[in-house]
Amino acid sequence: VKERTRVRRIPRRGVYDRRVVDAILDEGFVCHVGFAHGGQPFVIPTAYARVGDEIYLHGARGNHLLRSLRSGAPACITVTLVDGLVLARSVYHHSINYRSVVVFGAAREIADEREKLAALRAVVEHLVPGRWDDARAPSEQELKATLLIAVAIDEASAKVRTGPPSDDEEDYALPIWAGELPLALDIGAAVTDPRLAFKVEPPTYVSRYARPRDSEANELISGIQ
Ligand SMILES: Cc1cc2nc3c(=O)[nH]c(=O)nc-3n(C[C@H](O)[C@H](O)[C@H](O)COP(=O)(O)OP(=O)(O)OC[C@H]3O[C@@H](n4cnc5c(N)ncnc54)[C@H](O)[C@@H]3O)c2cc1C
Repeated sequence: VKERTRVRRIPRRGVYDRRVVDAILDEGFVCHVGFAHGGQPFVIPTAYARVGDEIYLHGARGNHLLRSLRSGAPACITVTLVDGLVLARSVYHHSINYRSVVVFGAAREIADEREKLAALRAVVEHLVPGRWDDARAPSEQELKATLLIAVAIDEASAKVRTGPPSDDEEDYALPIWAGELPLALDIGAAVTDPRLAFKVEPPTYVSRYARPRDSEANELISGIQ
């Protein structure tokens, strides 16, 4: 673990196992990309996909974030999964159960047309697995209008909290409710576009949509408080 990636604050919550890092990156689908431009830090939320040791980002050719990364700015990417609110007896020990990742890496533009198409497919499939083959493929012009950036996962850390609150021993006797309020992504029923030209049921990858969960990776982090 390199110096800038080592979790110093509550180090027992730091996890560097790539299996755990990848599981968090794969379950999430919104990242925040931090970069500096002329001494000004920016943090921009965007969609992504992890493929091997890279994170793919995409957007319009004129996108400020992507253009800055393309010209070599180092990136810091975070992904956060919120698992619950932790209500302790003391205000001080209130917390959040979460799984988060911080990645540092250098960016490159994906310019080769075939690689670009594969990267775009990865981003779409990361959001809705199964969708690429059903949707109309991008035209040459659409592909030209899209900028694709790959950020190498050069260094990565995960930080995790699970379980009940940790109060000071003398506070456990207080008559105050304490515990965890689990939170999860709420996936509603699909709403069909009223302009649908044919009567078609939503595909199963929509009606049974779920984010991928790596139970073995979650096993590795169970009990981290
Ligand atoms: C949903 C959520 C809510 C949080 N709320 C609070 C809060 O209210 N107050 C608070 O102090 N902290 C909170 N944290 C923890 C916060 O992310 C930082 O870990 C913490 O503030 C310590 O910051 P630091 O700069 O001292 O980290 P350091 O320990 O100095 O960070 C060193 C390195 O550790 C790694 N690292 C640090 N934090 C994380 C992380 N979260 N995930 C992955 N790698 C990490 C990075 O590589 C970083 O460069 C929260 C985290 C999450 C995910």
